[in-house]
Amino acid sequence: MRNDLYIDGKWVKPVNGETRNVINPATEEVLQIISAASAEDVDIAVKAARRAFDQDGWPKLSGAQRAKYLRAIAKGIRNRQEDIARLETLDNGKPFPEAMWDVGDAAGCFEYYAGLAEQLDDHPEEKIEISDGRFTSKAVKEPIGVAGAIIPWNYPLLMAAWKVAPALAAGCTVVLKPAEITSLTALELAAIAHEAELPAGVLNILTGSGSVAGQAIIDHKGVDKLAFTGSGPIGSQIMAAAARDIKRVSLELGGKSPFVVFDDADIEKAVEWIMFGIFWNQGQVCSATSRVLVQKGIYEKLLQRLVEETDRIRIGNGLDDGVLLGPLVSKRQHEQVVAAIEAAKAAGATVAAGGTRPDGFDKGYYLRPTVLTDVPLESDAWVEEIFGPVVCVRPFETEEEAVELANDSRFGLAAAVMSKNDARAERVAAAFRAGIVWINCSQPTFTEAPWGGYKQSGIGRELGRWGLDNYLETKQVTKFVSEEPWGWYIK
Ligand code: NAD
Repeated sequence: MRNDLYIDGKWVKPVNGETRNVINPATEEVLQIISAASAEDVDIAVKAARRAFDQDGWPKLSGAQRAKYLRAIAKGIRNRQEDIARLETLDNGKPFPEAMWDVGDAAGCFEYYAGLAEQLDDHPEEKIEISDGRFTSKAVKEPIGVAGAIIPWNYPLLMAAWKVAPALAAGCTVVLKPAEITSLTALELAAIAHEAELPAGVLNILTGSGSVAGQAIIDHKGVDKLAFTGSGPIGSQIMAAAARDIKRVSLELGGKSPFVVFDDADIEKAVEWIMFGIFWNQGQVCSATSRVLVQKGIYEKLLQRLVEETDRIRIGNGLDDGVLLGPLVSKRQHEQVVAAIEAAKAAGATVAAGGTRPDGFDKGYYLRPTVLTDVPLESDAWVEEIFGPVVCVRPFETEEEAVELANDSRFGLAAAVMSKNDARAERVAAAFRAGIVWINCSQPTFTEAPWGGYKQSGIGRELGRWGLDNYLETKQVTKFVSEEPWGWYIK
């Protein structure tokens, strides 16, 4: 059933029968009971994925044949977009319109990689010019093998799509573990893949904890590639596990992204993009622009407008009409974000907006959107990812100072700049040490464009053609074409 594990094309119970409650963050009620996979279940899934890769011929299919499955999955997602979005809202808490957007993007991701799979047929090899005329050489791309994919809770279906779509397009087989607190839409994806008649073993989806099921995936010798999105400390453990067997690894980790607003910017537009950059998805966004730097000339006016608009955001159950901020994903996340705000206050920060549970919400993990000022540069609030609807706003005077403050972070996922002076905006964009840079906006994400971080925000790039390369090896094939003997040992 939909709350079992999806292994080798079948729904199965975990061998030890363990389960886990799924909580609706808006009501704190139990929404569903799901299975918790053991290391033994992971072993069965990896063996199925190995067989599908090594024997059953998934990588041998043409790109066009694999694309048919990807398009069928995309269609399955689109056909049930509203139901899946509703489930995502119940499970994760995000407002329903945001969930609709995510689910549509997930379908689009499968469609996009179907196109790239077809292109693999058009360009099966690249001729290499060799200076020695006795040889010809070419480079061919081949799938890496079995991919172990581990994803977080903030965009449950979309993160699954970002990993599964390129992996399948490349010809890899997959063992995917969703985050334990938001697994329901990944199980829907398994059901859709099943309806699309994806061959058994090509995609296995196992719900379960990180410490048991996740650990078993990263330690398994049958896994060739680890693809992870989540926190830095777990990313570091995953890289260490990959190092033991020299597994391929790509990591999408956290951030503390800056948003620099110059005083020639339109204040109303700036305020809206600042809000979109930190309150979308309750601020539980790896690329959230959580450090806002505003040039002195407009600082007071912009801050006043930001506080006014922040206080007006409609908070509530994500299924209710007009709600723009739902509950945080879990009790633990709520506690952590509240603790981060308290620590910021203790360090000397001023709460200009929010900071508390909204009135009238006794149940649910709700928090008012929060604007902090006077945040000391060395405090955790300025340095560490809060992963909630909390923005730190700070004035600056010169472009040089803004760039220095923006880059003064161990993270480098994203950065944004706003100015009517295009040359200045481009100059600052070039100076940012970040993998994703937005000019005059924050957060828009496109399946075609590379996504990933500098510094401790990760390794590798997802999305676009870069995302496909994550799942491909490059093989050199060189042929001796001369009729002459080689003539080294035998003259
Ligand atoms: P997390 O690192 O705790 O968990 C992520 C996933 O890893 C979950 O599925 C979890 O079960 C699994 N996991 C935990 N321990 C494991 C282990 N020992 N072995 C294998 N897997 C294990 O992160 P989270 O709380 O789910 O997500 C929040 C974090 O993710 C934030 O720091 C955020 O910045 C980051 N994130 C980054 C991106 C990005 O694109 N860069 C996107 C979303 C979230």
